[in-house]
Amino acid sequence: MAIPRSCMSIREIASSLQNGVLSSSELTSFCIHQIKATKSLNAFITVAEKEAEDLAIQSDVRIKNGSTRGLLDGLPVAFKDNFNTKGTRTSCGSQMLANYYPPYNATVVQKLLNEGAIMMGKTNMDEFAMGSGTVDSIYGPTKSPWRSGLRYKLWHRNKHRHQASSIMEKEQFSTFTDKDWFIAGGSSGGSAVAVAVGSCFAALGSDTGGSTRNPAARCGIVGLKPTYGLLSRYGLIPLVNSLDVPGILTKTVDDASLLLNVLAGHDPKDSTTVLDPFCPVKISEEPNISGVHVAMPEEYYCPGMSSEVVETWKEIADLLERGGAKVTNVSMPHTQYSISCYSVLNCCEVASNFARYDGIEYGHRATNESSTESLYAATRHEGFNEVVRGRILAGNYFLLKRNYDKYFQKALKVRRLISNDFLGVFEKGVNVILTPVTLTDSPPYSLWKLKDSRQQSSIEDYCTQPANMAGVPAVSFPCKLSSQQLPISLQLMAPCFHEQTLLTVAKWIEQRLDFPLLDLEV
Ligand code: GLN
Repeated sequence: MAIPRSCMSIREIASSLQNGVLSSSELTSFCIHQIKATKSLNAFITVAEKEAEDLAIQSDVRIKNGSTRGLLDGLPVAFKDNFNTKGTRTSCGSQMLANYYPPYNATVVQKLLNEGAIMMGKTNMDEFAMGSGTVDSIYGPTKSPWRSGLRYKLWHRNKHRHQASSIMEKEQFSTFTDKDWFIAGGSSGGSAVAVAVGSCFAALGSDTGGSTRNPAARCGIVGLKPTYGLLSRYGLIPLVNSLDVPGILTKTVDDASLLLNVLAGHDPKDSTTVLDPFCPVKISEEPNISGVHVAMPEEYYCPGMSSEVVETWKEIADLLERGGAKVTNVSMPHTQYSISCYSVLNCCEVASNFARYDGIEYGHRATNESSTESLYAATRHEGFNEVVRGRILAGNYFLLKRNYDKYFQKALKVRRLISNDFLGVFEKGVNVILTPVTLTDSPPYSLWKLKDSRQQSSIEDYCTQPANMAGVPAVSFPCKLSSQQLPISLQLMAPCFHEQTLLTVAKWIEQRLDFPLLDLEV
């Protein structure tokens, strides 16, 4: 029998499952154990223990009978709590939907279930995916597993060896207290932590301005935001319809492409999905990057970026150059306007989207029914946190007749300019753009909370938002550990529908780095 470990990739797990040396039931109990043992990290809002066990038994029967549904059959996965899951609570981390049990599955959820994947549960998130830390959920914040007081070894995949010397123990960090822990990133922090600690082997997040790439970067795993329109948003509770994309969180680039191939494709239920048939991504075992044109946009150097992040960026650029890529500096002059532009567009779409939560048709309903107006007000006051209410108010202000041109229309024009920056660079023959993901490694919660969290949250998205503005695919991948022993990741972006190039370059880099995965001893 093979023994599952938190550091294993889907490919490793899948071959054990398909060969019969590991059963889905064994794997599922392992994941349930991991979920329970890492409960203090607060990655899950809902754990579907019984349902997962039942599905695992069915999968074992299929595999035994030779009627396996493929590589994902029997594989434990998790979904961010903003993907509709039939009969399983889907709260968006908010009081507003705390009792919402959807009558249907999101298309991407259904696609994974059709492949035989096992849903372990629903993961924690910032309320309605607004945030970059997973600190604003009614279920409490999610903590990074790194330096969390859990006992783990670092598994060096490329060197195929354990480094027992790297056991992290709480006692090693004498200044470390339960109050002082590091943020998991967000808003899909629950999904990132769940994958990092082996509570599942892949998870879905959503990415509107970086919410998949950011927590993946902070938790030391891979986060893929596919091209806008490649994956269905049907059943993903909307934040900003024109920017939202389902995101994929896995331990390796290969695993991310495996999921992408299952999830991509037109959905008649989402008219923004592309009609063209999806050509599955296939990355060779030994990817080649010679002649690939990599660009480094100078505007992505941003005030507040740590020297360790800048160094990592340069090191990876040098690595690519040595590997035969052509690396050049480019200018993307409108990058600096992304945060302000995003704040206007985000709030405007939020104001429109969130009008549905009125206490009558959807969600929580306050008991104050003295008038329709007071019912609305009480419902929203009780149902939404300050961040959500603030965005609804700002959005309605931007959309007032007298402000519409000044804010909303102007932001749309700026968005076009940001998008044109990408087109301009890609038209010059650039294949991928290399940038940081976050400005620093994970801050401790105590520090994060000191700053105004709204302001901090938007600055965090400096490097990730532009890809959503332009709709281009982007992937974040871990590169090394900082001096604090926390992950530092970089991001690659490519032209729309060029996931093949994007993931090929990412895999090439991954193979040359020795980024350690967590091997939890719990
Ligand atoms: N941090 C951004 C926001 O709060 C992005 C969120 C996301 O990608 N869902 O809007």
